[in-house]
Amino acid sequence: MKAAPLKILVTGGKGFIGSAVVRHLINETRHSVINVDKMTYAATEGSTQSIADSPLYEFEHADICDIDCITEVFAEHAPDAVMHLAAESHVDRSIDGPAAFVQTNLIGTFTMLEAARAAGVQRFHHISTDEVFGSLGPNDPAFTETTPYDPRSPYSASKAGSDHLVRAWGETYDLPVLLTNCSNNYGPFHFPEKLIPLVTIRALHGEPLPVYGAGDNIRDWLHVEDHAAALVAVVERGTPGETYNIGGKAERTNLEVVETLCDLVDEIAGPLDSGASRRSLITFVADRPGHDQRYAIDQTKIQRDLGWEPKHTFDTGLRSTVQWYLDNQPWWQPLSDKQATERLGLKK
Ligand code: NAD
Repeated sequence: MKAAPLKILVTGGKGFIGSAVVRHLINETRHSVINVDKMTYAATEGSTQSIADSPLYEFEHADICDIDCITEVFAEHAPDAVMHLAAESHVDRSIDGPAAFVQTNLIGTFTMLEAARAAGVQRFHHISTDEVFGSLGPNDPAFTETTPYDPRSPYSASKAGSDHLVRAWGETYDLPVLLTNCSNNYGPFHFPEKLIPLVTIRALHGEPLPVYGAGDNIRDWLHVEDHAAALVAVVERGTPGETYNIGGKAERTNLEVVETLCDLVDEIAGPLDSGASRRSLITFVADRPGHDQRYAIDQTKIQRDLGWEPKHTFDTGLRSTVQWYLDNQPWWQPLSDKQATERLGLKK
């Protein structure tokens, strides 16, 4: 049976994952959406263009740290539920400039909790990351919902702090909170500073592909559309007070990911002018400070309790993502040009 339609306030719905959630809600459910976004560098209009004319969709340009503005948004729209994704999300940026992470991820979450509490929402779903659990050794078991927190970067520490605030508002004020911690996402509308789009674009242009350290850091990859479906299952059917881990069962070293991307771009776009494989573009560079070695997610709980599992395999999902970047150059080229002037390196 379909869940009754909810009015859902989504924060950060112009970003990578938030826009996938908004598109999923509008295209696949009967829920309506109020998308609240500050339009930082990470936001794009194109990510919600396909659903922008839906009568079930509204956009509010607002900063989640601005309590007066957010209180007005709650008063005007009276949402039933909040899906809170707005955040500063990029580990390298958090090392260069942690202040914005403390501000948005901690103060912004605090502001959203206070506004949601005053408005009496039925559900407050906080979207977090597996990075709060720290770094695994090669033979350690995957993160579960009860793994102790051990954040090691300014990004993961600010997200861990926001998770603690959310749980405290649940315990102390009976706010009906739900939390999810997810592994690395990939897919369409991923900002070109992150590993998979960055490598795809640089490989396409025949540019060097810098890889941190020995490229042996391991991430567990999930297609963003599978993440969006999991998040909607949690907001609809999750039990308030509970946390759900979400992962892709697709652990890969960064080097494996980069090599697979090279092979896919060679196959889909044709070889380099020299005839060499794009693997020849791989260049090992100094490692990121405090680079977590391995993340892996045990997703037994969400699979068992909510019946969710990923639909994309990493192989098919990565292939369709590379094809998407080849087909959507007008979306990423201006972002890529802008960021090329900012910095060089592989991200996340
Ligand atoms: P993103 O950087 O692509 O998008 C973030 C969005 O939040 C942008 O649209 C931005 O404009 C908005 N935003 C930032 N500050 C704001 C503010 N003060 N007020 C209102 N809006 C603001 O991030 P993403 O990769 O889509 O991640 C979304 C969420 O999912 C984050 O909370 C992140 O921690 C979490 N997450 C991400 C991943 C991943 O692999 N990308 C994995 C697990 C969890």
